[in-house]
Amino acid sequence: MPELPEVEITRRHLAVALEGRRIERVVIGHPRTSRLNASPEEVAARLQARSVISLDRHGKLLLGNLDDGQIVLAHLGMSGRFRISPPGSPFDPHTHAVITLDDGAEVRFVDPRTFGFVAVIDGDEVEGSPLSRLGPDAWERPPTVADLQRQLAGRSASIKALLLDQRHIAGLGNIYSDEALFHARVRPTRPAGRLGPVPIGRLLTAIREVLGAAIESGGTTLDDLAYLLPDGQAGDNLPNLAVYGREGLPCPACGTPVSRVVIRARSTHFCRRCQR
Ligand SMILES: [Zn+2]
Repeated sequence: MPELPEVEITRRHLAVALEGRRIERVVIGHPRTSRLNASPEEVAARLQARSVISLDRHGKLLLGNLDDGQIVLAHLGMSGRFRISPPGSPFDPHTHAVITLDDGAEVRFVDPRTFGFVAVIDGDEVEGSPLSRLGPDAWERPPTVADLQRQLAGRSASIKALLLDQRHIAGLGNIYSDEALFHARVRPTRPAGRLGPVPIGRLLTAIREVLGAAIESGGTTLDDLAYLLPDGQAGDNLPNLAVYGREGLPCPACGTPVSRVVIRARSTHFCRRCQR
């Protein structure tokens, strides 16, 4: 699943293509892609002839600010990606939205599993939208140690589960939460409310480091090639992963085979010697 670094790389590419451009035409080809609005036609009609002022990101959500105050929300879901294509180029399978710009370029949304969406809301509809359920962005506005400790206080759920939750800190998914917990030497199954300021401080530092390295290298493209940059290239972060997807392989710090457990139906990787 694309996480903060992959969405940030996508944002940077799309911003170059979109900012200052007028939307000539929108076609949504799958009803699930527009499920936050009434219909594919509604999304198309509301975007038609609008200009894109800027493209932001909060957690894993892309936020396009339009000239009339509307906001485009886009989420890549499990397997979504954007592709910037010249007109007339062949379509990738599972292309479910095509936004044609006034310079002829097409911004295409490819989403095999259709967990992603493209939505348009008014500024006063932010309350109640997926945006309103996100904690501070893990990269742009990370919480302080005291803030995060207050959020986690009294919680018996595992720290891994609460990192995936998005309401305490937004942007981490399965890969980067496993990686950050490894570098912070915190066991993912540890009850979140029992973490003191020292491990929380190590965790926030580790989050910063793993996200920074992943953004630097264009994000993580796994063997399934589900995530690709909008120019079709793969991200180069896979060799930076210490534990994610490495069950049974030696921990890079101590050589102990990497363990795997399931937390909230997600595979969780850790070193039982380094992470106590
Ligand atoms: Zn280890």
